Amino acid sequence: MRRPWHGLALHWQILLGLVLGVVVGLIINTMWTADTWRSLGVNDPATLLAGGAKAVQSMQPGGSNEYLDTTAKLAIFFHDLNVFIGKLFMTGLKFIAVPIVLFSLAAGVASLNDTAKLGRIGGKSILLYLTTTAIAITIGLLTANIIAPGKSIPEDKRIELAAQQQELAESKVDAAQAQQLRSTWDIILDIFPSNPFKALSSGNTLQVVVVGLLIGVALSLMPKEQAEPVVDFFEGMTQVVIKIVEIILKIAPYAVFALILKVVVDLGADVLMSLIWYSLTVVLGLAVMMFFIYPAILKMLSPVGYRRFFRAISPAQLLAFSSASSGATMPVTMECVEKRLGVSEDVTSFVIPVGATINMDGTALYQGVAAVFIAQMYGIDLTIANQLTIVLTATLASIGTAAVPGVGIVMLVIVLEAVHIPLSGIAVILGVDRILDMCRTSCNVTGDCMVAAVVAASENELLTEDEVQQLLDAPLDEHPPGT
Ligand code: ASP
Repeated sequence: MRRPWHGLALHWQILLGLVLGVVVGLIINTMWTADTWRSLGVNDPATLLAGGAKAVQSMQPGGSNEYLDTTAKLAIFFHDLNVFIGKLFMTGLKFIAVPIVLFSLAAGVASLNDTAKLGRIGGKSILLYLTTTAIAITIGLLTANIIAPGKSIPEDKRIELAAQQQELAESKVDAAQAQQLRSTWDIILDIFPSNPFKALSSGNTLQVVVVGLLIGVALSLMPKEQAEPVVDFFEGMTQVVIKIVEIILKIAPYAVFALILKVVVDLGADVLMSLIWYSLTVVLGLAVMMFFIYPAILKMLSPVGYRRFFRAISPAQLLAFSSASSGATMPVTMECVEKRLGVSEDVTSFVIPVGATINMDGTALYQGVAAVFIAQMYGIDLTIANQLTIVLTATLASIGTAAVPGVGIVMLVIVLEAVHIPLSGIAVILGVDRILDMCRTSCNVTGDCMVAAVVAASENELLTEDEVQQLLDAPLDEHPPGT
């Protein structure tokens, strides 16, 4: 049967999934309340939904869930199915992340035959990453100082919000303090794996980048006849992995629906409303970064125009938004940058994994806004020196932020401590963290794509828009003749 959306471009399909997820989520959120659960005989829906059938059994002395109404059972079934689809998709993306970095980097570097070029690509990327991160925090600080969202929170509201999230906030502060015990040297040393297999199995992206680079460099230094079969293997495996990404992407629209639905259903609308000015300030800052600063840099340093850029990378942006993880989005980001934007494999396979790990403009901007917001809430005036300290620490904190959901707020502790802002402020903003995490992750991924395009343009490794279109239009040669 031909699906009605057959032929619709991938980004439209994902967007459709996203919009439907929001609409259905809002309907459930408003119509299906705690009272609905109670009327169906469930007094503790949160435990029930978190623990599924096991929770039901433990709640019942007889260990059965017979007392549940059929409607409640159906609701639980669809809830669990929804969570399953979302998790399956995320598992698929994580499954592919390590192989795609390893194979494409090793194959790319091996065929480079030019270690100086590698150094150039690395140097340019890091410079752009640091510059854009500093710009991002500055924009965050400016918007937060101008809008002053912290001044609109009365003290009783602040205390009420903080009380709701007390425990979770304390665990975040503990997590951050454990991280701080490591010295800068240790952090740098951690990039180099002592056991390459452990690096691969633990999925530490920077360590995998080092393994891939080393294999690639070694191959390029070996006699050609010895290196060739290994390079062929890595090239072949890169193609295999790219095919798997394409397969996984087929369920992306459904998965995005599932992921977004859960977020919207779980959304505490009242918390969102009381932090609306703070949330809007973060979103405004991120929008300025994504839709003005990045396109402006692209215009100055590459031939990539506004429409071309966003059309090419929108699947990655939408996925980053739905998953709140730039690490999980990475395989799709690589696919978009290489196949849809026309950046060479050499540049993509280095710039994107490194960017996904260390370049977090959205997170840095968010940390800037959050720091100023909390200071304003407690009536603390931040001097220019304080704000410069925030620029510096938020740049470092964003580099250290892992590319998974919710870590940006953990690293915020370091920023707050640097300028003596009360850590208890974290509890106040936790309620809206997930939704802002989704927005900042989209910005993080957009920044990586922008840097890939600029570096590729400077190395003359960027296809023109027509060349990309020709490649996209070319029929897929799935079974070459003679095989
Ligand atoms: N979730 C973000 C990312 O994966 C990191 C963060 O800000 O929490 O890029």
